[in-house]
Amino acid sequence: MKKLSVILLMMLSMQALHAVTLRYYPYELKLRHAFNLASMSRRATPGVQVEITIDSITGYGEASMPPYLGESVESVCDFLSKVDPDRLADPFAFEQTGRYLDSIAPGNRAAKAAIDIALHDIASKITGQPWWRLYGLDTSELPFTSYTISNDTPDELRKKLAESEPYKILKVKMGVEGDRELIEFIRRHTDRPICVDVNQGWHSPQEALDNIQWLAQRNVIFIEQPLDKTDMEGHRWLKQRSPLPIIADEAVQTSADIPALADAYHGINIKLMKSGGMHDAYKMAMLAKSLGLKVMIGCMTETSLAVSAAAQLAPLADWVDLDGNLLIANDIFEGMTIVDGRVSLPSSAGIARKTGISE
Ligand code: MG
Repeated sequence: MKKLSVILLMMLSMQALHAVTLRYYPYELKLRHAFNLASMSRRATPGVQVEITIDSITGYGEASMPPYLGESVESVCDFLSKVDPDRLADPFAFEQTGRYLDSIAPGNRAAKAAIDIALHDIASKITGQPWWRLYGLDTSELPFTSYTISNDTPDELRKKLAESEPYKILKVKMGVEGDRELIEFIRRHTDRPICVDVNQGWHSPQEALDNIQWLAQRNVIFIEQPLDKTDMEGHRWLKQRSPLPIIADEAVQTSADIPALADAYHGINIKLMKSGGMHDAYKMAMLAKSLGLKVMIGCMTETSLAVSAAAQLAPLADWVDLDGNLLIANDIFEGMTIVDGRVSLPSSAGIARKTGISE
């Protein structure tokens, strides 16, 4: 008993020896082109940058808050203000840290992702290994990434298509007026395969099926979130009839959501801002695979920091949609790159902040 008390005291004093600081500040992500979705259009995405320093090692994290997630700079900063930095002293304790963060509030997953990414960054820097190596993944042939073309005037669309030239797969937002015309416009310029993201924009399973059958003849790879995320019955009906795979995005947030939707979708789109970071995203990929579901790794509009963190899981993905950093004009990090249209992961540990950039 006495021995146990001594060990406990030693552990407590070791933890107390670590100096931990948590710093955060708003950083708005400026979009290079207006982003037009089924429900809205915007030119910027609110974000918060996070820095956790344990002793002398700083890890970077990021929260990106597209409006549909229901988070804001205020809600993220409010959550972060409640985090006790001393509870983050062990950067490898992802399960315990996750439980601690969940005890503060059940949601706020973009804020939790920022902390999780920063701790993964520190752990990577301590071990001197990139995360794909710590996961034991094979990076010899990573998937092509898709490049999003959102609807616009013909002149702007021609510009966007010219910029998309290095990418082998295009992604198109549908569920907006004129979406078939957009597909036909693109098809007049290129025969590259297209992924379609409807963002819940189609109103009935039959309308979705009609559109999917039309798209199946136009070299489309899959359809993301065709119907409202709550319409499980509609997606089940569609899964049985669709000639193209149906992928859940808005309908799936964390690993806990996956079992219930396995019979309604062919696959899931994993994003760190939904899952609360890399730890649950890894669990999501493994669980989806075990249920026979396809895995897609996506992102929000984010800097190279969060996109590179998501890209560590690219070897587990059937498809990746990691263009969030390419769509912004004020990136402050250097990380994963796209080489010949494929994700390419650096073999160095951690993430590097660009030098000479002010906040
Ligand atoms: Mg989507």
